[in-house]
Amino acid sequence: MRLLLVEDEERLGRALQRGLQSEGFAVDLAGDGASGLELALHGEYDAMILDVMLPRLSGYRVVRALRAERNWMPVLMLSAKDGEYDQADGLDCGADDYLTKPFSYVVLLARLRALLRRGAPERPSVLTVGTLRLDPACHRVSRGGHEVSLTIREYALLEYLMRRPGEVVSKTEILDHVWDASLDTAPNAVEVYIGYLRRKLGRDLLETVRGAGYRLRTP
Ligand code: CA
Repeated sequence: MRLLLVEDEERLGRALQRGLQSEGFAVDLAGDGASGLELALHGEYDAMILDVMLPRLSGYRVVRALRAERNWMPVLMLSAKDGEYDQADGLDCGADDYLTKPFSYVVLLARLRALLRRGAPERPSVLTVGTLRLDPACHRVSRGGHEVSLTIREYALLEYLMRRPGEVVSKTEILDHVWDASLDTAPNAVEVYIGYLRRKLGRDLLETVRGAGYRLRTP
């Protein structure tokens, strides 16, 4: 297994490199974001360990650029920040997992092995279905290039349907995945919100499949 390690703190970088090599990994080390991205795009790596705060190009930007090139290598991000928002930022921009510094080397290895087992399935960070586009990183939705403003619930419903384009999704599945189980949800909530989405995004987009559920039409 070949790993790419992008870390600008030299001592930490070297120590991690040595540790991972002693586990049998081949490890290339880059000291800044730009050279890390360059290596990532042109090398054959099984996973990348990526610091967030890097000279030349931040870890967030590296992983975004990588996903934009449709490169799905597993990415484990490292950061000294520990705010919830940073973690969400990292995951939204396309990273697969996140560790806060200082971290335990044993935990790093365990997380890394879990990522390697999962491999690199295709998972674009921006969802597109026809002219419909949803960017989870900034919670933006547009259709045909026009931005559409959605409430949190409408957005969650649309995101769920966009992750299963062309499939019939039952009302129960939608309730389970989009509505908080602790909330007392009105039985017709799904119909009501499908109606809101139709109004905002166009009536042609969401098809009602009688007795079965709803389907997001694909072009
Ligand atoms: Ca750093």
